[in-house]
Parts: sequence; structure tokens; C-alpha cells
Amino acid sequence: MSDEILISAKDLTVGYNIGKGFFDRTVLKAVNEVSVEIKRGSFFGLVGESGSGKTTLGRALLKAAPITGGHATFTDGEVTYDLATVSGDELKDYRKRAQLIFQDPYAALSPRMTVRDIVAEPLEVMGLTKTREETDARVREIAAKCRLNLEHLRRFPHAFSGGQRQRISIARALVSGPKFIVADESVAALDVSIQADVLNLLKQLQKDLGLTFLFISHDLSVVAHTCDHVAVMYLGRLVESAPTRQLFAAPRHPYTKALFSAIPSLDPDDRGRAQKLVGEIPSPLNQPSGCKFHTRCPNAIDKCRTTEPTLENPGDGHAVSCHRWRELLEAAITA
Ligand code: ADP
Ligand code: MG
Repeated sequence: MSDEILISAKDLTVGYNIGKGFFDRTVLKAVNEVSVEIKRGSFFGLVGESGSGKTTLGRALLKAAPITGGHATFTDGEVTYDLATVSGDELKDYRKRAQLIFQDPYAALSPRMTVRDIVAEPLEVMGLTKTREETDARVREIAAKCRLNLEHLRRFPHAFSGGQRQRISIARALVSGPKFIVADESVAALDVSIQADVLNLLKQLQKDLGLTFLFISHDLSVVAHTCDHVAVMYLGRLVESAPTRQLFAAPRHPYTKALFSAIPSLDPDDRGRAQKLVGEIPSPLNQPSGCKFHTRCPNAIDKCRTTEPTLENPGDGHAVSCHRWRELLEAAITA
């Protein structure tokens, strides 16, 4: 991992117009003023319950969800893309550099196309190769890197297992030579035994091809073993962000602690002593006042109900958005 920042977002907001007509201009904010920096060559994890805005943030960074507020940039060497405004030919270029690996390898692949055609399609759509020979050569090269046999290329996706299909979707995502990959729950649909294979492949590809990953997962144990850095989202906001080891050793946000307490082997607060998460994530259309987590937080006080905390970076690279984190840390030390 380098110190160069590949992706930088500042107060990034994604609002969906879900109103039902001229007089109903309801906007659902799926991502709300998120600031985040992803270093080149990192495996950056994004966790949070379903509905917290992970997919939307990943899609916004791929320019596949509408950025309605704030800024985001992608900088690779000499080139910078302003993701809030990029369009036209520049956007076509950006699509070569930033790609998505889907969650469900069964749904993502067209059943009527051979593996060769599935992997080749982005090259043809983006006009990256001129002749069939050139396309075939590139497809063979990326297929080998993704540990697919060349004889597989002539078959149809139904002939393959879940893990093999996921390798086909990875090859398709990588064929255009992108630098930034959003992997959204990319191993969630796979058997545990296969998950490790696919994760190893992603790590290997990261090294070989110099990739940067935004790795979205609801599974904290997967994140613990693969990511260098983890950010935690709740109701469209970033509530905590730290190097993985630091986050798992000493989470600062009550929400993160509650997520960990669901997994006994990861619970830093002595096996289940931390409060389990109760209730459900509120609707983005009916957001609580103050800290968005206060309705479920075991540590909430009056201030949390009235005043929204900001993401604070105390200088050790471990950012947190909680009024009480220092106080709770001291209480835990003296307890
Ligand atoms: P996650 O990936 O963490 O489960 P999502 O980003 O999918 O969260 O969703 C965040 C919120 O945004 C949810 O409340 C979801 O219903 C809403 N949402 C996502 N996509 C859209 C869309 N295209 N239109 C309207 N609302 C959306
Ligand atoms: Mg999602």
C-alpha cells in the first residue's frame, strides 16, 4: 500500500428522488456527507447492516449512483476525475479504470453467452481491442490470472460452480485493466470453503495487477482477514474508520462494538459483555434527531438526542463519530 490517495470523497451525498409527482419532491438520502480517503493499493473494507448505504457509496464512486452533494475524486498518476461532474468521453475513460464485481455470480452472468464472450464483452463495448485475435489474447491472459482453464472459455456459465462463476465475473471486471475495484458482497453467496479461495484470488490479483479494492461486506470475520482498513457505516453516515487491527482491537463507536459483539470470537469486550444490537436500522426517510444511532445506543445521553456528532480524527488514524467515545474509553480502562 502506498501513501498516495486514489479515491478521495468529501461530504459525499447521494439523494434519490422518490417523490410521486410534482408536489411530492421527497428525497431519500442513502449516503449522507461521507468523507473518506482510499489509499492506492489498499484493501479498504466497508461494513454496516443492510440498508446502511454501503452499496450506494460504492456505486457513487463508480459513477453509477447520483452524487447530489459534496465531492469525490479519483487520482491515478497524472489523471484526476472529478466524480461529481465527469461525463461524456471522460466518463468512458473512467469506466476502464473503475469496475464492479457483483455479489451474485448466478445472476450476473448471461446464460446464453460463452465464458469467452462474457469476458470479452467489456473490451468490445469500450472499444479497447481492434481485432478478434487481440481480444482473444487479452481474454486468455486475464482468464489465466483468474485461474480459469482455457477450455472453460468455450462453455456456458451454467456448467460452472459458484466459485468458478465468481472467477468469471472477476475476469470480466478486470479485462479492461481497471485500477479501482468495488467488490460488493462478492463472496457472500458462496460456501465458506469457496470464500477463502476467492478471497485469496482477489488478494493475489491486487498484488499482481496493483489494484485498489473497496471491499463491501456485512461479514466482519471476512473483513478482519482481508482488509487493511475498515470503515463502518450507519444510516448513510460514516461512524468509524481505522486500520483493521486498531478497529478490531479497540472499537470506539457503540455501533461498531455492537456489531462485534454478535461474533464471540471477535468481541474485544470480553465475549458478549458488550451490548447486543437491538431493534432495526431506521428508515432514511424518517431519521432520528441528533446522533442517528441514539435510538439503539446503550450509551445515549440527552446530547446524543439533540446534537449530531461529527467524524472526529484524534490524530491516530482512528476516526469516530460519537460524543462519548473518550469518556467510554476511559470508563472501560478503569473498569
Ligand atoms: P446497503 O448496501 O448497506 O444494504 P444500500 O446502499 O443498498 O445499503 O441502501 C441504502 C438505502 O438507500 C436503503 O434505505 C435503500 O432502500 C435506499 N436505496 C438504495 N438504492 C435506492 C434507489 N435506487 N432508489 C431509492 N432508494 C434507494
Ligand atoms: Mg448492499
